[in-house]
Amino acid sequence: MKIGFIGLGNMGAPMAANLASAGHTVTGFDTAHVSVDGVSPAQTAALAATGADIVITMLPNGEILRRVADEILPVMPAGTVLTDCSTVDVDSARAVAEQAQAAGVFALDAPVSGGVGGAAAGTLTFMVGGDTEGYEKTKPLFDIMGQKSVHCGPSGNGQAAKICNNMILGVTMIATCEAFALADKLGLDRQSMFDVVSTSSGYSWTMNAYCPAPGIGPKSPADNDYKPGFAAELMLKDLRLSQMAAISANADTPMGQLAQSLYETFVETENGRGQDFSAMLPRFEHRSRS
Ligand code: NAD
Repeated sequence: MKIGFIGLGNMGAPMAANLASAGHTVTGFDTAHVSVDGVSPAQTAALAATGADIVITMLPNGEILRRVADEILPVMPAGTVLTDCSTVDVDSARAVAEQAQAAGVFALDAPVSGGVGGAAAGTLTFMVGGDTEGYEKTKPLFDIMGQKSVHCGPSGNGQAAKICNNMILGVTMIATCEAFALADKLGLDRQSMFDVVSTSSGYSWTMNAYCPAPGIGPKSPADNDYKPGFAAELMLKDLRLSQMAAISANADTPMGQLAQSLYETFVETENGRGQDFSAMLPRFEHRSRS
């Protein structure tokens, strides 16, 4: 297939490289003019999209996605596919999809989980919104860049799945960290706390698979001085998107709202930027009730 790939950053570069090494013809564009193994560089986004069967975008946010869509949709013929793998707000995903559909172009929102490691290893999970024909056309590429793709329904539903998942993740991480900090103050050692909770009704992915306490449970960023992993500022981005969506859909999400506010303080005023999102544990450890 001929693929245009726009946005060759931490995630996009290894994803594009994997498509090229699987034998696809990939033309890439990034405003930073980076070079990626096996990917022919284009001078503009429109040139990367010209002649492509599928264009993949991996960009920082919805505003940039809308600008790039304005630039590339006029050169994309009917029947081609625009697959956005960025994490963006649901409203932007749906607006771009509408614009694409008006031009006869299939549009998918296909945000990922798995991070930079998953992008490099080709083991991402794609959560996909958009119509079935576009999904079927892109599926062979999802299978190269990832290990799983789930078609979640019409446009915007991929982003909806991503932010709902990450809202649960942010809330659960905070709950796990504050419970460890409370256990410390009650004199309960962390290994006992882990042994009980990880096999009791308080278990969760954050406790069992990504334990925020160093030296406890399977290896996690806590064992590497809280180097990300999944950076606190990326968690904050996703929590903000979840709250934008909640406002737009008039949904009551008090826990998500509080999680956003705690990560905001952590990232913006407490040196959380650049640390893994599980570094909430040392944050709570050093605090008292007032
Ligand atoms: P990044 O900042 O490393 O990459 C974004 C790239 O887009 C940059 O190279 C930038 O130069 C380029 N860019 C910006 N504006 C552009 C434009 N108009 N045209 C072309 N290129 C442009 O970010 P990333 O970590 O690769 O993340 C990309 C997306 O994936 C984000 O939406 C992020 O939320 C999501 N995501 C990231 C992770 C992660 O762990 N990094 C995990 C899951 C999802």
